[in-house]
Amino acid sequence: RGLLVDGAAYEAESVLLATGGMSYPATGSTGDGYGIARRAGHTIVPPEPSLVPLVIREKQCRDMMGLSLRNVTLSLYDGKTCLFQELGEMLFTHFGVSGPLVLSASCHIPQMEPDRYTLGIDLKPGLTPEQLDLRLQRDFQLFQNRTLFNALSKLLPKGMIPAAIQLSGMDGNIRVNQITKAQRLAFGAFLKAFPLTVQGFRPISEAIITRGGVSVKEVSPKTMESKLLPGLFFAGELLDVDAYTGGFNLQIAFATGYAAGCSM
Ligand SMILES: Cc1cc2nc3c(=O)[nH]c(=O)nc-3n(C[C@H](O)[C@H](O)[C@H](O)COP(=O)(O)OP(=O)(O)OC[C@H]3O[C@@H](n4cnc5c(N)ncnc54)[C@H](O)[C@@H]3O)c2cc1C
Repeated sequence: RGLLVDGAAYEAESVLLATGGMSYPATGSTGDGYGIARRAGHTIVPPEPSLVPLVIREKQCRDMMGLSLRNVTLSLYDGKTCLFQELGEMLFTHFGVSGPLVLSASCHIPQMEPDRYTLGIDLKPGLTPEQLDLRLQRDFQLFQNRTLFNALSKLLPKGMIPAAIQLSGMDGNIRVNQITKAQRLAFGAFLKAFPLTVQGFRPISEAIITRGGVSVKEVSPKTMESKLLPGLFFAGELLDVDAYTGGFNLQIAFATGYAAGCSM
């Protein structure tokens, strides 16, 4: 029993493979373990990025680069089915969106297909549609002689106003006292579901974790020992186990490492 490294044999009762995933390769986790496990006969569930920023089709994200949103509700949809919805923080980048809400949403995308998934940002989650409409009426009253473009400064971050107007289909040059009730309601509905189209994940090198890895069907859950090759143990992100943000991935690494350590 043991290891062969560059032709040199090392005897050992047990060997633990804990090389991590392939996210953030600068940390040393370059995915070597998948090949080693495969050569030992194990099945590798294809590694994919998870907890990863999302590339967005709408070019307006680039215009809002650096803008972060707090206390917004982000929803992820597959068609009409909502896969994820949470209140929190996110930010716009040159490629699309990132930040805690987006990373969490990314792990609810089962398989990436460009344009299949959409995001909706509720920019005013604390207001019902009726309350938001009253708020719009108040602001439009206050700025009644201004254009829509110049009447949203109390409602939206400055950097977001051009994108909101473009994506809502409203005319930014219209005077707010000329906006019809139907237009105002439609704009309110837009602010409750600011729509973005997901084009893809950012590369796995930018993902916080790698999902996929050594199939857990081939590993004893109590001892972390290979069911195929006695004496070979696994721990951590190399395994096909992944979780949400919040320390759960470190917990997986600690718990599987402990279980393996106790059994070797
Ligand atoms: C930026 C960032 C933030 C994160 N934040 C959190 C968080 O807040 N909470 C959370 O739960 N998780 C977080 N994670 C994920 C968490 O860090 C990992 O899930 C966890 O570290 C996995 O532990 P591991 O021991 O399996 O692998 P790793 O920590 O990746 O360790 C694997 C080790 O194996 C070494 N190695 C790889 N290949 C070889 C080889 N061929 N020969 C020798 N050595 C090799 C690597 O150099 C590395 O030291 C974060 C990850 C990143 C990148």
